[in-house]
Amino acid sequence: MVVKKPRIVIIGAGMAGLTAANKLYTATASKDFFELCVVEGGSRIGGRINTSEFGGDRIEMGATWIHGIGGSPIHKIAQEIHSLRSDQPWECMDGNTDEAITIAEGGFHLHPSIVDPITKLFNNLMEYSQGKLNEATAKGELESYHKLAALAAKVASNRSGNNNLSIGSFLRQGLETYQISKEQEEVKGCGEWSRKLLEEGIFGMHENNQRTYTSADDLLTLDYSAESEYRMFPGEEITIAKGYLSIIESLASVLPPGLIQLGRKVIRIEWQLDERKGLENGCCSSKPVKLHFCDGSVMSADHVIVTVSLGVLKSAIRDDSGMFCPPLPSSKTEAISRLGFGVVNKLFMQLSPKHGGGKHEYQHEHVNDDSDKGFPFLQMVFHSPQSETRHKKIPWWMRRTATLFPIYNNSSVLLSWFVGEEALALESLKDEEIINGVSSTVSCFLQHSQWQKGSSSHRLCNGNANSEERSQENEVKFSKVLKSKWGTDPLFLGSYSYVAVGSSGDDLDAMAEPLPKDSSCQPSASSPLQILFAGEATHRTHYSTTHGAYFSGLREANRLLQHYHCVGIYNN
Ligand SMILES: Cc1cc2nc3c(=O)[nH]c(=O)nc-3n(C[C@H](O)[C@H](O)[C@H](O)COP(=O)(O)OP(=O)(O)OC[C@H]3O[C@@H](n4cnc5c(N)ncnc54)[C@H](O)[C@@H]3O)c2cc1C
Repeated sequence: MVVKKPRIVIIGAGMAGLTAANKLYTATASKDFFELCVVEGGSRIGGRINTSEFGGDRIEMGATWIHGIGGSPIHKIAQEIHSLRSDQPWECMDGNTDEAITIAEGGFHLHPSIVDPITKLFNNLMEYSQGKLNEATAKGELESYHKLAALAAKVASNRSGNNNLSIGSFLRQGLETYQISKEQEEVKGCGEWSRKLLEEGIFGMHENNQRTYTSADDLLTLDYSAESEYRMFPGEEITIAKGYLSIIESLASVLPPGLIQLGRKVIRIEWQLDERKGLENGCCSSKPVKLHFCDGSVMSADHVIVTVSLGVLKSAIRDDSGMFCPPLPSSKTEAISRLGFGVVNKLFMQLSPKHGGGKHEYQHEHVNDDSDKGFPFLQMVFHSPQSETRHKKIPWWMRRTATLFPIYNNSSVLLSWFVGEEALALESLKDEEIINGVSSTVSCFLQHSQWQKGSSSHRLCNGNANSEERSQENEVKFSKVLKSKWGTDPLFLGSYSYVAVGSSGDDLDAMAEPLPKDSSCQPSASSPLQILFAGEATHRTHYSTTHGAYFSGLREANRLLQHYHCVGIYNN
């Protein structure tokens, strides 16, 4: 009897691929059931998890947060491997969001009485869209938010048609309904800003945060009904002190040397659409899938688990790509086309020593002058890009950035998130252009604040576009920057997925369907499960996250394990 071990090749050494490899290996290693290997196109493991270093601090270029610690498998691993504590400084945002200050373009520090109602409105609208604010439980103040949100949803869906309602149009309708229902005093001392403009600007800032969470460049493309299907874990959202990569390294640590092959970019996947072609002398073909690599080498396999990003799949289904041969069926290509995959980038900036690039001190006129503080957690309210009163020195690619903040209390490394068009533009800008653009922006926002102890408070701009004269030497400077480039990296072509208007959770399910489907219990079946799909974009309720990727890797590993329980693993 000849023992044929099924060969399973996993494409991609990110969270999904390594979880699948870990599961398949640990579930069967002692019996040596499978010939297993992971082929990774890049020169490192981790994929969209990439812990790095900047200014001596540990930072994350990709995945940053454990989104809710209650029930998260990532949190469980982090606890088991003691990754949640570290002596080295890391990107932890340790509580400074509580002390966020909101400043409107021109340097107008906004009082909570202006900001908080809009923040509350925005949060309640989002909770409504997520199904968390419902009639039965909404009492007191929440009842009025519920009514407002329900009305906004009705008006917006009448306008766009029930199946095409976007989060963007629902939110804007919510703001309009709110503004109509409230008569409020005009604000004073905010230059060109009226209350209405400020409310729109603050609302826009929250929309920009939402763009970052979802990766949707334009919230008008983000599907409304899918929002209530998305699941979050309860509990705190935390970062991983020893770095997100420690989770990946832990998953990989059980695998024998050589099982993960780096620098092995797959350029073509040949599979057997017609099952009969997979038959050899009436028997199941031993290796129905052929992988072609960029160096010209070829590898055959019984099963391939594809974990590449949705961005890579979108590029793979273009007419001329030839990545899949035969091409993927329309159920797959339509889901791939319809789902959204946006670009989100992180920009790290080191403050120059003159401006606090050691331990630095920041004071704001509106804050107790005696309390020396590091750079604030800054929330930025911009004028609209078309506004005549906008500050011309602020580049367009900064205008939809919501926040700028130190990566931990008193850190001299600041972080901003960029989405969509702006995130892509950032990738091609020179460091010097970025430094100048961010410096001008920060200076415009902090011009009414004291920067560095000892420097006198300076009011060089009153928020009027005509008075942009500013002392160059007071401009906040950065000595270096580091940015991610997820949009143009050919191994990712974007950051994470979202349900776009026109797609639905069904498309995420279609993404997870294996090819050909497992019909192994039927007598005529041959070569089932040639191509399996894992990765964050294949999880209906946890897409866009590391734990979604983790669950998808487990799912596909279990699918194969179950398959072999059914048919056995030995062929004569
Ligand atoms: C900026 C940013 C911030 C994020 N923040 C968070 C967060 O805070 N919390 C969270 O939970 N998630 C976050 N995410 C999302 C999270 O990182 C991803 O959902 C998750 O890591 C995806 O894992 P994956 O295994 O599905 O895909 P990937 O990590 O993309 O793995 C796929 C692998 O396939 C490889 N590959 C691609 N093409 C080929 C080829 N042709 N041949 C061979 N190999 C190939 C790639 O190099 C990659 O290593 C963030 C992502 C980004 C980009």
